Amino acid sequence: MAENHTSRVQQISIGPKNGDGTTVIDIEAETESENVEPATQPDIMANFDDTLQLARLAFASGKTRNVSFRRKQLENLLRCYEEHENEIISALEADLRRPKQESLIVETEFMKNDIKHILYNLAEWVKPEKPDKSFVNLLDDVQIFNDPFGVVLVIGAWNYPLQLLLVPVAAAIAAGNCVVLKPSEIAGNCAKFIAETIPKYLDNDCYPVVCGGPTETAELLKQRFDYIFYTGSPRVGKIVHAAANKNLTPTTLELGGKSPCYIDKSVELRTAVKRILWGKLINCGQTCIAPDYVLCSKEVQEQVIVEAKEVLKEWYGDNIQSSPDLSRIINQNNFQRLLGLMKSGRVAVGGKYDASERYIEPTILVDVKQDDAIMEEEIFGPILPIYTVENAYDAIKFINSRENPLVLYIFTTETEVLDLFVNSTQSGGLCVNDTIMHYAVDTLPFGGVGTSGMGSYHGKYGFDTFTHKKSCLGKNLALLGEKMASARYPPYSDRKSSLLSFLLRKRRPLPNLYLSHVIAAGLGVGLTFLVNYYLQKESN
Ligand code: NAD
Repeated sequence: MAENHTSRVQQISIGPKNGDGTTVIDIEAETESENVEPATQPDIMANFDDTLQLARLAFASGKTRNVSFRRKQLENLLRCYEEHENEIISALEADLRRPKQESLIVETEFMKNDIKHILYNLAEWVKPEKPDKSFVNLLDDVQIFNDPFGVVLVIGAWNYPLQLLLVPVAAAIAAGNCVVLKPSEIAGNCAKFIAETIPKYLDNDCYPVVCGGPTETAELLKQRFDYIFYTGSPRVGKIVHAAANKNLTPTTLELGGKSPCYIDKSVELRTAVKRILWGKLINCGQTCIAPDYVLCSKEVQEQVIVEAKEVLKEWYGDNIQSSPDLSRIINQNNFQRLLGLMKSGRVAVGGKYDASERYIEPTILVDVKQDDAIMEEEIFGPILPIYTVENAYDAIKFINSRENPLVLYIFTTETEVLDLFVNSTQSGGLCVNDTIMHYAVDTLPFGGVGTSGMGSYHGKYGFDTFTHKKSCLGKNLALLGEKMASARYPPYSDRKSSLLSFLLRKRRPLPNLYLSHVIAAGLGVGLTFLVNYYLQKESN
């Protein structure tokens, strides 16, 4: 069966502006796989140069520094999601056969809530921060300005093709940057929607969309950006990081890996199994934070299998393939890769597949070995291996012998067990007695550690990711301050050194603002006398 993305047609040229003055770069190339014909390379490079130049000029003009401008762009983006919800759902259905309910929850509603959260808080976030002052700076202005980086590049992945691109884009806009948007070419229908529709809502020069696969992205990465935000595999993450390194460009990498799920016998298994299977099966397992494999005792494993069979029947009926509620695998490459992984261990649940639809039945594998392929590479499909362990210590040893996961799932009601995992493992995040839902808590940072990623975003953390914290110490030139500081000037002496060490000594923060003003005034007067006394003695 022909793949969606194999016949995808992309055009390249910096188009004439759309009706509302937006620009889209499309790339005309038939993309067979990861390799795209390099024939149009010089054109691509010229166009990338032009696009970047326009974005740089737009940033230099200062228009994205204007908070009302940013707000307007975000409101437009929100309107875009609202006005094109059905189109978005259709594009996701065409790429992934994604059920409408999942598209609503994990893409459109998520993106709308994300922008609303930004709009509600933007006025507060953009304000210069006033950190605590130490004794020596009591009379000074100590501030942190929230500066945009400049022109940033956001590269999205195919599995949540809109949300993974547009949520960081919204954060970058909020922080006052110009943004080049690069959707994943693998989810071709969503990339087309982004290229054709998003630019109708956003400023033309500040937020261009660039389409293409690895070849075009590699060309794009030769450009100098002020920040790069990448979502995708650790393999490509290394390529992006190496390219960014050439210009010392700061980078956030939202990567993947294997997220383990430990279950102990203290939990109510029916609920645990439902939550684990839901996390594994939304988007047919093609989720960076899907529980990748289960760690539990043999006894728990047997009960999980019984519960799982019942839950799957309750959700999808007797013929799972005919259920409209299970997505399909994105393409034949991934489908074939998953069939290979299913050869590990023994099938305890499921195991059926149909290549013509890229359908794989929800499958549980048991008797897998530590070095089986399914226990080595990220699964990214509806297959759940169970690896048996004796206890929590065993599970922790297993987890710690591998790369740091993006998230660690723990199902337990025992506080000691939970504490053990919290204190003895490293992961991007933790989610206890549920799966996936931590992603939707917009006051929590989302990101990996080690090979699962670097940096984080969501809510305020997204704003901060795209913000340079510009520190500023503001002093006045009045006599009092100058007197206090004059002990720093040569000629140096022991007396001046001891005065300086007294002034600079670290002290506990002052209790409250009002009190600190009173103390500051008193200290100012006292110190002036003290400094005068010292300096006069010095000059005698
Ligand atoms: P993908 O193939 O869509 O690639 C991601 C992006 O990288 C695309 O825009 C693509 O054009 C670009 N790209 C691909 N090859 C490239 C190359 N050689 N040079 C430059 N750019 C290139 O997505 P994927 O990598 O298959 O995504 C799956 C992986 O992403 C999984 O590991 C998953 O766990 C991870 N992921 C992580 C998150 C997260 O938030 N941490 C979210 C989704 C997916």
